[in-house]
Amino acid sequence: MNLAALRGRTVTVVEVGPRDGLQNERALVSTDDKVAYVDRLSAAGLPVIEVSAFVNPKRVPQMADASRLFARIQRRPGARYTALVPNLQGLERAIDARVDEVSIFAAASDGFSRANINASVDESLVTYAAVCAQARAAGLPVRGYLSTAFGCPYDGPVDPARVVSLTERLLELGVREVAVSDTIGVAHPGQVMALLDRLLPRVGTAVVALHFHDTRGTALANVLTALDAGITTFDASAGGLGGCPYAPGASGNLATEDLLYVLDGLNVKTGVSLDGVTAASAFIEPRLDHALPSRYVQAIRSRRGSAEAD
Ligand code: MG
Repeated sequence: MNLAALRGRTVTVVEVGPRDGLQNERALVSTDDKVAYVDRLSAAGLPVIEVSAFVNPKRVPQMADASRLFARIQRRPGARYTALVPNLQGLERAIDARVDEVSIFAAASDGFSRANINASVDESLVTYAAVCAQARAAGLPVRGYLSTAFGCPYDGPVDPARVVSLTERLLELGVREVAVSDTIGVAHPGQVMALLDRLLPRVGTAVVALHFHDTRGTALANVLTALDAGITTFDASAGGLGGCPYAPGASGNLATEDLLYVLDGLNVKTGVSLDGVTAASAFIEPRLDHALPSRYVQAIRSRRGSAEAD
């Protein structure tokens, strides 16, 4: 790995805290607070923010205010404000809310797909083909998640060949980028390297993003491995918001602050202010029922705490 070669390179950080993070939080956050939170993330310079999901409000009450949220956030020129849509009804609501991009959520394993959306992977792709066609007709770009790409909580290990073929199928549907996702946080650098060695010769680096979870403390090692392979887009959640739904109390999404601390140190350009993201996390944390898991946020907090004690 040649870390010096990363200096000056540009990486796109996709902030998923308001959607992927909040969706997995027990505490219901008010719309006012979500607006203030997203506006703080915008002010930090994040180029892409996944704001909410147009899903069934009865199934996911935390996302019920998606339309109101999009109507009230301040959109920073140049930034993209995106939302997850599970089907055509969701897409219609997203178009009405003037989202910049929609995301679809496919899985690499049938067990997870059935548990999550009550459809096999193949069945879900039929729905997503319709969503992609309709989104294209509306001039809206689509991002595809491919969850459980490194392992499934129900089916166990996932064959990399399946991840490659499903990534290609999502791209054939017209998605702009596939976020290859480690939903349960099992991936390690050896596995990341092995998957990218098979995937990138087929699709190239430009259409692949990586979405790591830090459940086993491997997320940043995985990011470095992927950077070395030429990947330039990474998902992260401010403060590590969301936790791990499959291991209660454990870390889930890689924290944006932890990612930025490492990228800043390597002189990789993101255009994002670490202090700005930390401020957004400090705003949302008291509205949750637990402390944020980000190591960086915890270190800052304990430093402030000890300064106050002095
Ligand atoms: Mg996630």
